[in-house]
Amino acid sequence: MPVAGRLLIGGEWSAPRADFASHEPARWAEHVGTFPQATAAEVSDAVGAARATFPAWRRTSRVLRAECFDRLAQLIKRDTDALAELMARECGKNVTECRAEVVEGLHMVQYVFGSGRLPFGEVIASEIAEKDAFLRRKPWGVVGVITPWNFPFAVPLWMLGPSLLEGNTCVFKPSEDTPTVGQRLVELFAEAGFPAGTINLLHGDGEPGEALVRDARVNVVCFTGSYDVGRRIQEISASMHDRIVAAEMGGKNAVVVCDDARFDLAVTAGVLSAFKSTGQRCVSASRILVQEELFDRYAGAFVATARRLRFGDPLDPSNFAGPLVNPAAVEKVLGYNRLARDEGVAVLLELERPAGDGCFVPPFVYRTPHDAAMRSTREEVFGPHVALIPFRDDDEAVRIANATEYGLSLAVITESYRRMRLFRDECDYGMGYVNLPCIGAEVHLPFGGVKRSGNGHPSAAALVSAVTHPTAWTVNHG
Ligand code: NAP
Repeated sequence: MPVAGRLLIGGEWSAPRADFASHEPARWAEHVGTFPQATAAEVSDAVGAARATFPAWRRTSRVLRAECFDRLAQLIKRDTDALAELMARECGKNVTECRAEVVEGLHMVQYVFGSGRLPFGEVIASEIAEKDAFLRRKPWGVVGVITPWNFPFAVPLWMLGPSLLEGNTCVFKPSEDTPTVGQRLVELFAEAGFPAGTINLLHGDGEPGEALVRDARVNVVCFTGSYDVGRRIQEISASMHDRIVAAEMGGKNAVVVCDDARFDLAVTAGVLSAFKSTGQRCVSASRILVQEELFDRYAGAFVATARRLRFGDPLDPSNFAGPLVNPAAVEKVLGYNRLARDEGVAVLLELERPAGDGCFVPPFVYRTPHDAAMRSTREEVFGPHVALIPFRDDDEAVRIANATEYGLSLAVITESYRRMRLFRDECDYGMGYVNLPCIGAEVHLPFGGVKRSGNGHPSAAALVSAVTHPTAWTVNHG
């Protein structure tokens, strides 16, 4: 029985409406839920409710705000298995990875709860002996949270957590591919006792999302998703002089395999970076740069390992990964596979798509010519589409790694500290990994990128700098 989708505005759940459905990517005919597409009036009401709630929430003690997150943590622990299973059905990610995502969301909630009792603000010296100066950050007001389908539980929490702790109120619009997970998360917030109006929920496609962005009463837009949408949000917001946009966007990430690498580690790191979540992570690697001396041996082992991976039912934990998210994603990835061929690559692995209505696409691996400047090695594909790119020396590897508009994550597989330092200092990225896959996040570390990957407001705990503004308060004791 599909879940009945509802909006939450000012603490009131709307009556269910079935304007659109969410599907199971593994069996497209199955619906997970049916949802209302929020109207312009509903978007406006949600922003109005968040704005009306802001003064009282800001006045609520920081410790009490944080304690709501303690209750939320207990509920997430209670429901971990059910949440992971729902997520696996609705976004197609393997249930083991979904469980890890629920735990990552829990870590954010625990981090926020713990932060509630930490010192915040500073007392600093004033130029004048009789004066004290205080620095503290204040919430902006209303935060619009617009999130992607591929981390439908953790990414919203990375944005809602710091925003609410700091005293902002939120309007949350999950992806139209994963509205059931988004709604379940908001139901848990309500059960945890977050006051009416502190978190409001809208559903729908880009239209209500854009209406939310166009509403000038929204002080901050926290967006995670593709560059094109992030760019549009920044353009719309540019006309609002004090609008903050924190945009976390796509990636075209690389693993650099140096000739001194531990071979098995390099193969494992490359394969996991490329194919975990079927290549549908912002930090997934779609470029593996391999030093020439090692290239043939590495390509052989990489392709042999990729060929053995099992892509199947996301609810079966013995499968390595699941399908793509929807039929449009299938068309996009197959289109890039064709484009790479047209651009003259040597295909090393291409397997048959399985029959049926699941959105499954098997790995596609190819070797590029030296110094290839191709669309397929520069643009984000977001699927199991991987270029193996040979390089001669470290300078060439740096040049190739940076030859994309994106700059999100980078892994270097080397035993040399000197080489690791070169890539650390010369490459464009936000998250670097040494002798590890280029995927993975820890909530207390900044998560963000450069160039088309981000605009300088990293996610997770670091988001505090976007959802608050600094103030200085000088007091005369003379
Ligand atoms: P997307 O198409 O950009 O959508 C993201 C969100 O924006 C969805 O809720 C979407 O609604 C909404 N939206 C679409 N058009 C909009 C508009 N004009 N105004 C306001 N909102 C709008 O991204 P996706 O396909 O869900 O996710 C994959 C992308 O996210 C990839 O590029 C990936 O690299 C990136 N990502 C980045 C990070 C990071 O931390 N850097 C993390 C995860 C994912 P609809 O769903 O209805 O279109």
